[in-house]
Amino acid sequence: MGSIQALRGTRDILPEEVGYWQQVERIARQILDRAAYQEIRPPIFERTELFERGIGEATDIVGKEMYTFNDRAKPPRSVTLRPEGTAGVVRAYIQNSLYAAGGVQRLWYIGPMFRYENPQAGRQRQFHQLGVEVIGSADARADAEVIAIATNILQNLGLLNLNLDLNSVGNPEDRHHYRQALVDYLTPYKDELDQDSQERLNRNPMRILDSKDKRTIEIAQNAPSILDYLGENSQRHFQQVQQLLSDLGISYQLNPRLVRGLDYYTHTAFEIISDDLGAQATVCGGGRYDGLVEELGGNKTPAVGWAIGLERLVLLLKQIWKQPTPVLDFYLVSRGELAEAQSIKLAYDLRQSGFSVELDLSGSAFGKQFKRADRSGAVACLVLGDAEAQSQTVNLKWLKSGEQEVITQADLLAKADELRAQLDSCR
Ligand code: ATP
Ligand code: MG
Repeated sequence: MGSIQALRGTRDILPEEVGYWQQVERIARQILDRAAYQEIRPPIFERTELFERGIGEATDIVGKEMYTFNDRAKPPRSVTLRPEGTAGVVRAYIQNSLYAAGGVQRLWYIGPMFRYENPQAGRQRQFHQLGVEVIGSADARADAEVIAIATNILQNLGLLNLNLDLNSVGNPEDRHHYRQALVDYLTPYKDELDQDSQERLNRNPMRILDSKDKRTIEIAQNAPSILDYLGENSQRHFQQVQQLLSDLGISYQLNPRLVRGLDYYTHTAFEIISDDLGAQATVCGGGRYDGLVEELGGNKTPAVGWAIGLERLVLLLKQIWKQPTPVLDFYLVSRGELAEAQSIKLAYDLRQSGFSVELDLSGSAFGKQFKRADRSGAVACLVLGDAEAQSQTVNLKWLKSGEQEVITQADLLAKADELRAQLDSCR
């Protein structure tokens, strides 16, 4: 029978790569902890309607990328694997009355997302995002804080070759005026736009600015700028965000073509882009969404957030950083009935004392086990043969120097501190 392959657009994160993922999590958690963000773990599937309302039917995600199916409920019920994190977090915020605590909720999440896309480097069907949502503040400091946290995480991971693109999409009223100006500008070019953009011209024209088609991008170059359509309040908010970023020493460039076409997106929009990723260059995307909580049935509540694509981040990390091999103190070799019986207990006791121990389970000849010990990266090899087992001793061999000593198993455990110092000096 043929073996079963993983689905296209999904991949295994193997041990040889998982250290990068752990490093990202470690650094992110540290920075988020310091800024008083709390982790939230919403479910991975939700009612389809949540995403239809929360992301919008006119988007690519809802229009053609969702993993949607009926589960076994009767009557049939449509559920969807989450394509992004914000909708679920906002649903959880409303459903669990997180607003009742008063003040601002600072939340973060990490986990898999699902979109039926064309797989390529940095674009998969199951991918992972780390995201933050700050719910309950309209203050420009919230925008600046989330941006600072994103840049901080990326910098702490050693990624310096990144650019921050910044824009404001104003409020729905500003956008109403802008939208008309944009349609007026684009309509004469209608036949030259790519197919998707032609369809968006009436439904969701701002999304055309996001097109990846070459000719459409050319046409969009000279389109009117949203920044010329911001009302007084929107301008003030945007000025404040820019001032705060400058005060924080975070450089950015304005990109008036950076837009989100949906009504609940307001004010700040931003992306963090890498020069080292080729076509899939956006590592982080985010912005303010003052209308979303209300759209999903909560009270009118301002909010701002972002999501980092972890596959792209790991691709970048691999260019600059080598995953360290795991530390292993002991490789435990044994042969013979009594020795093998003792080996499991010795490994267990050593681990209880805080040492890391790999137990060879092969039962093969000593020579083969020693070869594996050499390859294991362990600092020392413990050898249990018949003689050692009879006398309740063990042969301790330092793998770098080749020095050996015979020591009782009881002493080995009793002198844990001494042993630890010796192990450290051999690393
Ligand atoms: P893109 O323009 O690359 O499709 P997007 O606008 O759809 O991105 P968002 O929904 O804003 O992306 O998601 C935030 C981040 O998640 C992206 O900047 C990217 O790093 C990552 N991301 C999005 N879709 C994928 C995917 N299919 N595979 C891997 N990473 C992804
Ligand atoms: Mg996309």
